[in-house]
Amino acid sequence: MNKKYFAVIVGAGPAGSYLAYKLARNNMPVALIDKKIFPRYKTCGGGISAKATKLLLDAEIDFSNLVQDRIKKVIFTKNCLGPVPVTFEQPIIEMVMRDEFDDHLRQHAVSAGADFYPESTFLQQENTKDGLLIKTSGKAISTIYLVGADGANSQVAKSMGQPVKRRKGFAVECELESTRQAQYKGTVILDHGHIDEGYGWVFPKKNHLSVGIGSFSPKQKNYRQHLERFLTSLNLPHEKKLTRGHLIPTPSQKKVFLHKDYALLVGDAAGLVDPMTGEGVYYALKSAELAAEALMKNKLSSYSDSVNSLLMPELRQAKRVAKILYTAPAAVHSLIQKNHNLAKNLAEVVYGGESYRNLFKGLATQIVKIPWSNISPD
Ligand SMILES: Cc1cc2nc3c(=O)[nH]c(=O)nc-3n(C[C@H](O)[C@H](O)[C@H](O)COP(=O)(O)OP(=O)(O)OC[C@H]3O[C@@H](n4cnc5c(N)ncnc54)[C@H](O)[C@@H]3O)c2cc1C
Repeated sequence: MNKKYFAVIVGAGPAGSYLAYKLARNNMPVALIDKKIFPRYKTCGGGISAKATKLLLDAEIDFSNLVQDRIKKVIFTKNCLGPVPVTFEQPIIEMVMRDEFDDHLRQHAVSAGADFYPESTFLQQENTKDGLLIKTSGKAISTIYLVGADGANSQVAKSMGQPVKRRKGFAVECELESTRQAQYKGTVILDHGHIDEGYGWVFPKKNHLSVGIGSFSPKQKNYRQHLERFLTSLNLPHEKKLTRGHLIPTPSQKKVFLHKDYALLVGDAAGLVDPMTGEGVYYALKSAELAAEALMKNKLSSYSDSVNSLLMPELRQAKRVAKILYTAPAAVHSLIQKNHNLAKNLAEVVYGGESYRNLFKGLATQIVKIPWSNISPD
C-alpha cells in the first residue's frame, strides 16, 4: 500500500525545501516534489539578505561554503550616474548561485527525513474519504495536507481557485564574464531610472557578474531592450551572454488568505515578495516557517493570520516607499546625494537593518522640501 504523508509540498525552491526541513525535523512524514531534477538553474540575482541568513543559521542551516561574495558596499546610481556609496562594517548580503543554494536546502530536508520526488509535476488534487490524493506526472501521492511552494506560476494556487491576488512584475538577468569583475568585488550597484517602477542591478559572483533589470509594473514591456541599454550605460561589453527572465509576484491586497480547505501557499506562490526590492528568498523562508507552525497545530487559518500580522505590515510599508521611489527616482536620488543618513536607510531596508516605516517617514518629510522645478523630469 502507498505511504500516506502528513504533507505533500509542491516545489523544492527555498520555500518548499525549508518547509519540508522544518516538518521533517518534527518527525512529520513529508513528500517534497519538483518538476525538475536537482540541482536546477533558477533565474535570480542570488542575493541572500542578512535577515534571510540569520533565519537559516537559527534553524541550523549554514550555507557559508556556497557564498560567492560578501557585500559590504551598496552604490546607488541614477541612470548609471551620480554614484552614492554606502558602506557597512559587516556583510549585509551574501551572494550565492541559486542552483547550489536551493539544492543545499533540499538536501537538508532529505537528511531530516523528507522524501524527495524529482521530475514530478503537480497536476491536480482530489478529495478522498480520508484525505487528499495528489496527482503528479509521476505517481499519485496520498496526504492530509497540500502545500503550494511552486513559485510565481503556481498550479497549486490554480487548483485552490486562486485564493490570493498577486501583482505580476517581471525581471531579466544575465551572467557576464567581465574584465572589470574585480572592480565590483564586495559591492552591489542599484540603479534607478532605466526602467519604470523598477531598477537595474549588478551583483558580483566569484567568476562573473549577475546583471539584471526588473519592474513591478505588469504593464512594463521590452525587458531585453532595457537590459541592453543598462549594460551599455554600465559600459560592460556583452556579446556572449544568456538572458533569462521570470515573473516577480507581489501582494496586491492588504490582507491575504493563503489557505483553503487542506491546502496552503508559501513563497512566490503566495505573492510574498518585497515590492520595493524584489527580495523573495527571505519571504519564502519566513512564510515556510509560519506554515510549518500552522500545519503542526492542524490549524491552517492561523497561517494566514500570522502572515497578515507578521509579514504584510512591512510589505505594505515597502509598497509606500516604492511608490515614492518609483514615482520620482530623480528626486529621491538627489535627496540621497545630499543626505547620507537617508541613503544609509535606503540600503538598510535591503537587508532588514531598518524598517520601511522609518524610511517612509524620512523620505516623506524630506521630499516635500525638494524644489521640484530644479529636478529634471524622470
Ligand atoms: C531576475 C530575478 C532576480 C531575483 N533576485 C533575487 C535576489 O537577489 N534575492 C532574493 O531574495 N530574491 C530574488 N528574486 C526573487 C526570488 O527568486 C523568489 O522570490 C524565490 O525564488 C521564491 O522562492 P520559492 O521557493 O517561493 O519559489 P521558486 O524558487 O520559484 O521555486 C519553485 C519551485 O517549484 C517548482 N515547480 C513549479 N511548478 C511546479 C509544478 N507544477 N510541479 C512541481 N514543481 C513545480 C519549480 O521547478 C521550482 O523548483 C529574484 C527574482 C527574479 C525573477
